[in-house]
Amino acid sequence: MALALAGCGGGGGHQAKTVSDARAIPQGTTATPASPTPPKPQVKPPSTTGAKPTIVQKPIPFPPKRKAEMAAYAKRHYGIDSYKLTNPHVIVEHWTATPSFTATYDTFAPDVPDVELHELPGVCSHFVIDTDGTIYQLVPLNLMCRHTVGLNYTAIGIEHVGNSDDAVLGNPRVLRSSLALTNWLRCKYGIRVQDVIGHNESLTSPYHMERVARLKNQTHGDMRKASMNIYRGKLSKLSCG
Ligand SMILES: [Zn+2]
Repeated sequence: MALALAGCGGGGGHQAKTVSDARAIPQGTTATPASPTPPKPQVKPPSTTGAKPTIVQKPIPFPPKRKAEMAAYAKRHYGIDSYKLTNPHVIVEHWTATPSFTATYDTFAPDVPDVELHELPGVCSHFVIDTDGTIYQLVPLNLMCRHTVGLNYTAIGIEHVGNSDDAVLGNPRVLRSSLALTNWLRCKYGIRVQDVIGHNESLTSPYHMERVARLKNQTHGDMRKASMNIYRGKLSKLSCG
């Protein structure tokens, strides 16, 4: 069930997949020497200036009830009585385990208890990047969102539609958009490259904080250290202009 596998607290989570080849040739680039079709257009590299990329606004409902639930969650888990995300220090990269942007949106929009931890508010992420590289923003940057246990009080969440780390690293359009979005955000907030992490790295973040005992070691399998080392290597080559 897609819901049960949705990233960011969707539940039970991401399967422990091996990153077989992070530099794999993306699907759809099969060579056809005799074909008259023109070569695929090259994917432009991400901006090296920290400029804001094109973002499609697709907000999920975040009415006062959800904000109050977010504040109560922050109080329980972090001892912070607020639903507001201020001065974020971390960016967490995820993949969705859902097959499309629509399915991802439909997972995050309803304010219902998540299937893994059975808590309110519903899980969400600030951004979702579709398989064609389109960047959607679902939640304003000044609101906390439930995507990573232990870090929601200070982390911006970026989801990528797909089922593996390679769905991010092996799809040039997704990777280009992801790096552009992440670089813009890290430049905007002064977030260090080392604090751009994969969900699977959450427990080793110096910002990890969790007051609920049964969740102190909880994480998911998406975006592992080996993948994020490649990602951070690319990100570190981009400047803030
Ligand atoms: Zn995740």
